Amino acid sequence: MEPTSSSSIPVELSEDDLRGVERVVQRLRRARRVLAVTGAGMSADSGMPTYRGVGGLYRSERPTAHGFSIEEVLSGPMFRERPELTWNYLKEIERACRGARPNRGHRVLAEMDGYFDSVWVLTQNVDGLHGAAGSRHVLDVHGDLHEILCTHCDYRTRVETYDGFADPPYCPSCRSVLRPDVVLFGESLDPRKIRQLEIELVRGFDVVFSIGTSSLFDYIVAPLRMAQAAGKTTVEVNPDFTAMSGLVEVKIRARAAIALDRIWEGHLEWWPHT
Ligand SMILES: [Zn+2]
Repeated sequence: MEPTSSSSIPVELSEDDLRGVERVVQRLRRARRVLAVTGAGMSADSGMPTYRGVGGLYRSERPTAHGFSIEEVLSGPMFRERPELTWNYLKEIERACRGARPNRGHRVLAEMDGYFDSVWVLTQNVDGLHGAAGSRHVLDVHGDLHEILCTHCDYRTRVETYDGFADPPYCPSCRSVLRPDVVLFGESLDPRKIRQLEIELVRGFDVVFSIGTSSLFDYIVAPLRMAQAAGKTTVEVNPDFTAMSGLVEVKIRARAAIALDRIWEGHLEWWPHT
């Protein structure tokens, strides 16, 4: 497993990026509804590896010790056939997330809740850090690793770590296999979350951020395209260039925590004078 390193990204923003920040600050002054679409880059500043794949966390071209690809091991069919194999890798992902705390970027999005009519976070991440930071409206479309549920009965619990879990762990009430509430490869997204997303998209957003995601999935790209078509503001925060970079109104080539900190500083400077 080789996480993408962001260590070469400068901490200071370039002149272009500072102009981008200023433009976003201006747009936010008139905004009532804000959406942040977040991916692995959002959590990179919390020390998380930026694997893609499950929950935007995990992807590797290397085969696993069992000769299967990571996608196969972390798939719904494999989980049904050989849950102990899937659990083995889920545990590896959980270890990579363990101890991670929300960073400044998560906290800025959570703070925004108090300044606009509605702030939504649509995240691919399964680390639960937006909720931990205090964001109230989080659509974690790939689920949350810390939510554990039974594959058979209604048993459900929240755990901080997978320490002490057997391979695989079994339900204390019915002895069926437990699983985390995450979307494995080949599984469908939770239709309730997608419905909620659709409702909010129809209500519309004044500013839509894409933060630290390479925006590969339709449901990640669609909010940006809809905002664009409606003449609203679209912002990409990502040290890298993505398929959306040329399409957004503002591109800020920086890490999430740094860019959001600057944007929020600018917003709060203006806020008390209104
Ligand atoms: Zn059960």
